[in-house]
Amino acid sequence: MAKFNLENLPFEQNALEPHISKTTIEFHYGKHHQTYVNTLNSLVENSEFVDSSLEDIIRKSEGAVFNNAAQVWNHNFYWHCLTPKSNKGPKGNLALAIEKTFGSFEKFKEEFTNKCLSLFGSGWCWLVKDNEGKVSIVQKSNAGNPITEGLKPILVCDVWEHAYYLDKQNARAKYVESFWEIVNWEFAQKNFEE
Ligand code: MN
Repeated sequence: MAKFNLENLPFEQNALEPHISKTTIEFHYGKHHQTYVNTLNSLVENSEFVDSSLEDIIRKSEGAVFNNAAQVWNHNFYWHCLTPKSNKGPKGNLALAIEKTFGSFEKFKEEFTNKCLSLFGSGWCWLVKDNEGKVSIVQKSNAGNPITEGLKPILVCDVWEHAYYLDKQNARAKYVESFWEIVNWEFAQKNFEE
């Protein structure tokens, strides 16, 4: 029996159009994300991680087990960072924390965009919170996840080519532009308040 399941998407597969197409979601969620789930299940079966939570596996494993566990977690989180009903910006304490670190929301967007674009190869660009409530941007290659450093994920942008190639081909900048149109700021605010 499968230990980990592919979580349901929090929206319909065509809900993010025209920013992210149904075809991209069909491949990204239905093929890539599903494959990480399947591979993780086969790797943890009969291993020391057979009874571990996804977060525990991410904190304690390395190599293929880490890569697949983190990719499952990162994608679960990424889907919740997206919504067809975006407020286009944060409110409350998250808005204040962003202003404190970056000066303004516009400056944060500019810096986060630059970090998405300058991340070499495949990876994830994260907005995180440290133990003192300070937010910062962290680039992670491949399956990297900031919880391994004790940082709390607030928001993420998947910058693997599979996230945008069918819609934008090589143009990561166009994908990041689309990303800003569909950010789920309520989810980010909830993560910040936790
Ligand atoms: Mn992905």
